[in-house]
Amino acid sequence: MMSANERARRPIRVLPPALAARIAAGEVIERPASVVKELVENALDAGARQIRVEVRGGGLTLIRVSDDGIGIPPDELPLACQRHATSKLPGDDLTQIRTLGFRGEALPSIAAVAELTLVSAADDSGVGRRLTLRDGAVAVDEPAPRPRGTTVTVRRLFQNVPARLAAAGRPQAEVALISQTVRRLALAAPHVRMTLIVDERQVLQTSGSGDRATTLIELYGPALAGRLQPLGPIEVAGASISGLIADPEVTRPGRNQVHVIVNGRWTQPRGLLATLEAAYRPLLPRGRHPVLVLVIETEPDKVDVNIHPSKLEVRLLAEQEIARAVGELIRTVLGRRLRSLQLPPRVDFDPLATAPLVAEESSAYDDDGPIVTPGLPPLRLIGQVQARLVLLEGSDGLYLIDQHRAHERILYERLKDLHGAEHEEPFVLPDPLLIELRPAQAARFSQRLDELAALGFRCEVFGTHTFLLRTAPPMPGVLPGLSGDALAALGQPDELLKTLLALADEEAAGETWKERLWVELACRTAVRRGRPLERSAMRALVGALGHTAAPAVCPHGSPLLLRVGEELIARTFGW
Ligand code: ADP
Ligand code: MG
Repeated sequence: MMSANERARRPIRVLPPALAARIAAGEVIERPASVVKELVENALDAGARQIRVEVRGGGLTLIRVSDDGIGIPPDELPLACQRHATSKLPGDDLTQIRTLGFRGEALPSIAAVAELTLVSAADDSGVGRRLTLRDGAVAVDEPAPRPRGTTVTVRRLFQNVPARLAAAGRPQAEVALISQTVRRLALAAPHVRMTLIVDERQVLQTSGSGDRATTLIELYGPALAGRLQPLGPIEVAGASISGLIADPEVTRPGRNQVHVIVNGRWTQPRGLLATLEAAYRPLLPRGRHPVLVLVIETEPDKVDVNIHPSKLEVRLLAEQEIARAVGELIRTVLGRRLRSLQLPPRVDFDPLATAPLVAEESSAYDDDGPIVTPGLPPLRLIGQVQARLVLLEGSDGLYLIDQHRAHERILYERLKDLHGAEHEEPFVLPDPLLIELRPAQAARFSQRLDELAALGFRCEVFGTHTFLLRTAPPMPGVLPGLSGDALAALGQPDELLKTLLALADEEAAGETWKERLWVELACRTAVRRGRPLERSAMRALVGALGHTAAPAVCPHGSPLLLRVGEELIARTFGW
């Protein structure tokens, strides 16, 4: 490295075109998978029904993409490889883009960092033109037999860019990225038959059936068959939204199978993804992610596709509104599935035979009758075990319920339901709580006041760094004095304040923050393990749990209910 004063001043010069192109190519072509993405997108834009991707040596030796699309007329072939040459912007209106490409950069960028051969025919004469570019110059140009369509071959990728070559991983790593890319493209185009061949071996193929569920199963394995639930379709802000989500028992350790497709483009809209995650997080086991496809169709002027060099991100105009609606959709579908999967109704089970026909409220005070709720089978209370579990008997076995997590689930759903329910009056605290803060905290806290009030926590400014909390959302079992509640003050009301404070410091905003607040409030204020419970409190707890959307998992996604089934008992004792 030269030091500043050793470095001689050199005149400014315009870079030679080949070098400039190589530098610019870095933006678009980062790895072999970027080449695959660009070439397959071109084939899709050309209306192909069949696309075949062939890769050798992790894509560094060879990448070949063949399609049966509209092809490139021979006289336009050299133009296709020029910078900023595209057939996809007939007008100059960037708001009306309906194709995946539009910048005219992919082919010239690839030609700058590899040897590029195009063979294409745009009619049914059986003859097309072959053009090979090597080091930016035409090396081969000749007629070639070819049915309508295009084959693009990329050889010796990055041979002239040692840094890129060194940065490329081992072939297996590149192949993994390439397969991921092809899967995403295939899922976005279910009507196209897509094949991936790696080192002469076929590793992926879709049928091009046009059905998204079929495509998902073809791409990620038959284990998904019969386990995909439809999302929507719904209409939000002029966009039509539909999708698929796998049953909650089919989860993945990462986000690789969460797909958002906007106008046929696989994309990662960050805000939307955060909201989706906030919606499924409390319904799935800790750290797990769903198999999810969300398909959004909207007018092209409602999406900005030009905000990211490789177009991986888009900006949706009505993103917030769409996110909210989709979050709700996911919660409903997953919640419903959770209930039906984890507590399968027994065929021989007749609730009328075991349960007296009484309303849940009155049965809660009738200590002998079973607890009847929509979410759980009728359960007869036996008692508390180890001061932390509620033991019950159902017609299909014994039930153990974690008292803390059950209460957490109840509080979480109560808070969530209350949010936005205009008619629900928050609970006025008999004595307002005094909140004293450090100056920096106070500043942040005052910015949250409206949001908190919308959630039922009305705070008044009291001094320079002091606030008074006057109301709270009705939280059964946490705030005393709520309508003859058998749960009265089981929980930890003093945690209310601490949780509010901790979350006022949070960076997260909007839906994510609210979701955090609900989860945290529910967790911290719920009844602790180790606390002895009255029978009436246990009945009320189980009764309320059976009315929640997902009575078998807590909002963190941990299990809260264990059924020791008749089968297990019989097997264990050899009956
Ligand atoms: P863009 O896709 O942004 O237009 P590209 O450099 O990827 O830019 O492609 C340049 C042009 O070459 C395209 O606009 C299109 O007309 C043509 N082209 C590229 N690949 C294909 C293909 N597989 N089938 C038909 N035309 C193609
Ligand atoms: Mg393109």
